[in-house]
Amino acid sequence: MLIVYLFFQKIFTGGIGGEKGGSVVWDRNKRCPLREEGERVLYAGRSIRGVIIEDHCSNCGAPAVFSEEYVACCCLVCNEWLEGNCGNPDCDICLRRLATPFPPDVFSG
Ligand SMILES: [Zn+2]
Ligand SMILES: [Zn+2]
Repeated sequence: MLIVYLFFQKIFTGGIGGEKGGSVVWDRNKRCPLREEGERVLYAGRSIRGVIIEDHCSNCGAPAVFSEEYVACCCLVCNEWLEGNCGNPDCDICLRRLATPFPPDVFSG
């Protein structure tokens, strides 16, 4: 059910942005816009493969991002996953999922 929901969200959000090669959808400080560009979501000079979804981070209020690579929702502003792993200890996707959406060594100041 979750996958179907996310697929629907992808179609929905895809209808908003996409023009002019990506549009700013959220910019709390007017400095670090979170935006979609092609198949990637960019934030603060970094990007992951995924889409911005209608959900929001309960911590900072920024739009949540669905990582296509790790099949999980995350907040790029907090650099945190918004959901735990799927509970299957043998799951390939969860095993190779990083502790944070962006590598921790890159995410500083
Ligand atoms: Zn957040
Ligand atoms: Zn999993």
